Amino acid sequence: MADKTAEHVVGVDLGGTKIYAGIFDGSLECVGTARVSTKASRGPDAVIERIARCVRDAADDCDLNLDQIGAAAIGAPGAVDPESGKVIFAPNLEWKDVALKKELEKHLGMPVFVENDANICTVGVHEAEFKSKPKHLIGIFIGTGIGGGLILNGELYSGFNRTAGEIGHMVIDVDGPKCGCGNNGCFEALASRTAIFRRIHTAVKDGEKTILTEMLGADLEDLRSGDLRKAIRRGDKLADRIVDEAAEYTGIAVGNLINILNPEIVVLGGGIIEALEEEMMSIIVETARECCLSGTGKGVEIVASKLGDEAGITGGAVLAWRRLK
Ligand SMILES: [Zn+2]
Repeated sequence: MADKTAEHVVGVDLGGTKIYAGIFDGSLECVGTARVSTKASRGPDAVIERIARCVRDAADDCDLNLDQIGAAAIGAPGAVDPESGKVIFAPNLEWKDVALKKELEKHLGMPVFVENDANICTVGVHEAEFKSKPKHLIGIFIGTGIGGGLILNGELYSGFNRTAGEIGHMVIDVDGPKCGCGNNGCFEALASRTAIFRRIHTAVKDGEKTILTEMLGADLEDLRSGDLRKAIRRGDKLADRIVDEAAEYTGIAVGNLINILNPEIVVLGGGIIEALEEEMMSIIVETARECCLSGTGKGVEIVASKLGDEAGITGGAVLAWRRLK
């Protein structure tokens, strides 16, 4: 089934709300894209059909047929077994033991490879953004949750049970809020978009004043990361404080990771960093440097990714090319 002469591959980013596919050529240029809503509530079979439709739409966008595409690699949110191509557990999709590789291969007629979404984003950022190809790089993606990927000695590190890189569940404050995983005070429970929004909502309920209620109404319906940026730039104290705190927690997480793994580069991405890079990065860097042991952080770069939304599909394409060769 694998066509080693193919000149294109497809990378797919499977999220809780949308599916994004990108067709890439051999020089890793994206030549066609498509987006489809996930509609996870309709169940795995329906979602897998929608993924296939998204890939077909992306191929159509650049006037290709599916048989001209050599392979697909897809990043799924949750615990994934890359060997079997099964999604073991994905809470955002309400999936358990879904044979994503096998089912999608039936729809597409090409080899399909499955990886955890944060791992795939890290691979994408590593390959497309850093010409120096650093041997040791950590990717941290802050959105609805917090995902992470580790590239150690030039390779994606997966660990004993292939679950390594769960950076979002590093406990930062044992007295902190409950996390979706059951622990208290995980990085994700303190600094994800969900955590930031929860703090804002609680503060407003407690009577704190903020421009956000003027902008969006008293119940802050449709609050988005970009609204926080707007509010901070208009001098809003509440948004400023809560985003600063999230940046500090992120800095502590980065400092811990530098002490443990001593990477060359820590790269941050995801919707929160995209929207609030200017507000957060300097605090993240400063806090991380304070947490680093003497000499450990020397020369380590802590930067924001420029790939944004493209990280997942780019990483998928990188992985598909690697597996195809
Ligand atoms: Zn957790």
